[in-house]
Amino acid sequence: MANEDKDSVRRSARPRGKPAAEARPPGGSPARARKGSEKSATSGRSTAGNSQAGKNTAAKPKASPALAVLEAQAVTRPARRRAVANAAAAALGGAFRPWSPEEIATAFSRFEAANPHPEGELDYHDPFTLLVAVVLSAQATDVGVNKATRGLFKAAPTPQAMVALGEEGVAQHIRTLGLYRGKAKNVVELSRRLIAEHGGQVPPDRAALETLPGVGRKTANVVLNIAFGLPTIAVDTHLFRIANRTGLAPGKTPLEVELGLERTIPERFLLHAHHWLILHGRYVCKALKPDCPRCLIADLCRWPEKTPA
Ligand code: SF4
Repeated sequence: MANEDKDSVRRSARPRGKPAAEARPPGGSPARARKGSEKSATSGRSTAGNSQAGKNTAAKPKASPALAVLEAQAVTRPARRRAVANAAAAALGGAFRPWSPEEIATAFSRFEAANPHPEGELDYHDPFTLLVAVVLSAQATDVGVNKATRGLFKAAPTPQAMVALGEEGVAQHIRTLGLYRGKAKNVVELSRRLIAEHGGQVPPDRAALETLPGVGRKTANVVLNIAFGLPTIAVDTHLFRIANRTGLAPGKTPLEVELGLERTIPERFLLHAHHWLILHGRYVCKALKPDCPRCLIADLCRWPEKTPA
């Protein structure tokens, strides 16, 4: 890796050192599970009446026909159950009393005190390998991506090497991941585009990143945040759920939540907010069974159905 690339990366996304304090069971060892990305639930219909506004809690919404179907399927399909949980959060989130600036500052001060330097869990060496890893992480776990990229990045650590490796060569390395054929095609094509349009470098620009194959707003935000130290918020399934469930920044779409979080979170916390919230969602405020008794922000959270100790 070129030195300038190393310098441009503010920190590695590789899990190392002590994990977030709140990722530990109370008084116990660090959480073992490295659970990966879940499929995003990006919509939820608000059934909570306006009369709930201004209250700290809200009544359970009447199940819509669509939600009822999801709930029926949820019995046997964990992914669907997570989608239901996220949709329920989105349905209720807008009805909660908004957080005050003091409450928001308190919440993020606690995240900061528990984990001053939060990190993601994807392995990478530089902005290029980070971009590839994030593209590969769609509908895959970080653990699975790390296994696949170990060999891939050895064989092709640069855009030039990735193009030389070709789609078939990339596919061989990542065949354990879902949708690997399409991902291999995107990785080779985005490498070709980086060489042709950006001198082989990853551009620190959201619009430019979003024109690359396989790169959407969330991926662009992750790269801008981790590789270039920009205070972007990448809304994945965890952030979407937490923003709605807590009432911190309710929204029906990831973009709505992203803009709400950017508006709400004090500037000094913005850089790390994305990682704090992802880790919180992955290990504490989980989709199916939030661990409210050991939650750092339980007293601030508006969710009316907190799990008992
Ligand atoms: S109290 Fe429970 S629902 Fe609220 S943020 Fe914490 S874990 Fe999530």
